[in-house]
Amino acid sequence: MLWRNRGFLRQMGSDPICLIFEKILKPIHVMEKKRYFCSMKNIITLAAAMLLALAPAAAKGLKGKVIYVNPGHGGWTVNDRPHATVNYEAMDTMSFFESKTCLWKGLELRDRLEAAGAKVIMSRTRNGFVSEGDKNATANDRFETYRDENGEQQLITLQKIACQVDSINPDYFIALHSNATGGEDGKTVNYLLYMYRGETGNDYAKGSIDRAKVAFPYVYDNPLTVWTVKETDRYVAGDLTWMGGTPPGEPNVLGYTGWLAVLKHRVPSFLVEGSFHSYQPERQRLMNRDYCRMEGIRHFRGINAWFGGKPEKHGYIAGTVKSADEIVDNPRFKYKEDTDDQWLPLNGATVYLLDSRNVRVRHYKVDNEWNGFFGFFYLKPGKYSLVYEVPGYETITEQVEVKKNETTYCKPRLHRK
Ligand SMILES: [Zn+2]
Repeated sequence: MLWRNRGFLRQMGSDPICLIFEKILKPIHVMEKKRYFCSMKNIITLAAAMLLALAPAAAKGLKGKVIYVNPGHGGWTVNDRPHATVNYEAMDTMSFFESKTCLWKGLELRDRLEAAGAKVIMSRTRNGFVSEGDKNATANDRFETYRDENGEQQLITLQKIACQVDSINPDYFIALHSNATGGEDGKTVNYLLYMYRGETGNDYAKGSIDRAKVAFPYVYDNPLTVWTVKETDRYVAGDLTWMGGTPPGEPNVLGYTGWLAVLKHRVPSFLVEGSFHSYQPERQRLMNRDYCRMEGIRHFRGINAWFGGKPEKHGYIAGTVKSADEIVDNPRFKYKEDTDDQWLPLNGATVYLLDSRNVRVRHYKVDNEWNGFFGFFYLKPGKYSLVYEVPGYETITEQVEVKKNETTYCKPRLHRK
């Protein structure tokens, strides 16, 4: 079930941004047109661009920077992008909710930012909160609040968030989402999209495009997903252009125009659709909290790069365990043909991590959500080996190297015995 009409959603304080409809067929080129350097205005633009290019180096890292993280949506309602998965029906809280998965990404992003010395404000830190009077509220939902005695808040209404962001004026603002195509479920479309307030090539809050472009390659770097567009198609677009609004868009109470309500403030910012949850194999991956945490880490790298921060001292391992022989055959798992997503993920696999002296230091139990995902966080750089064990399959051992500030990706495929 998706959204019915924009008026309804506006009333509910929700945003229909996750549905891009036919926009997916009409790619917008990110590369802005080359400017002619003949007018004063353009010279000023050029000077500003050069200053911005210097900004990361001059910024000296994340220490003391104020970062506002908005982990999208906010509860368990029909507006929070519930979807059926292989194991669960839609609206089951065990099933997919974008509100749940984006919170997982956001919490990890917060932790990494705080570890780097930043001050982080999150619009919400829990799931299950809805706007007062929301007729979709369930018995488990509670109302939104500003900061409580624990310093936590649960803001859901997009305009309230925009007003708070404008008032705090943080150094960086990020809104985390995942995307969906319109119409029937299960289209094989999956790409990364950054949207900023304004028209493509003309960010109304200057600095938004530059921030998005710096972050893009870090977040795109996910070999565990299957992107369905060419690597050269980098979608960084103005929200008005992308969503089909008329420039300069509708003003909010602060007088800021644009399309996405959560971006209508003075702070350079973007909303990122990290992947498509309507692509069913990706939805199954997003069911794993650690897979979402890995996305949070990629967002951290993009933000850290913007501020010219120090690299993380530790590294990560992430991967998927799949069958070498069997193809997935499930009506809720429509994969893109001839890609890694065709291979059966091995639910319940055990992955052992051994250090350079062959001592088992950790293990990971793969979940039963048809993603085969495993991940090891905050590892000391060095040589390790991984042992993949699945009953009925031949065990594989793989040597890996962990490097600081990097994720080592592994995609073992096991033969049946
Ligand atoms: Zn969303």
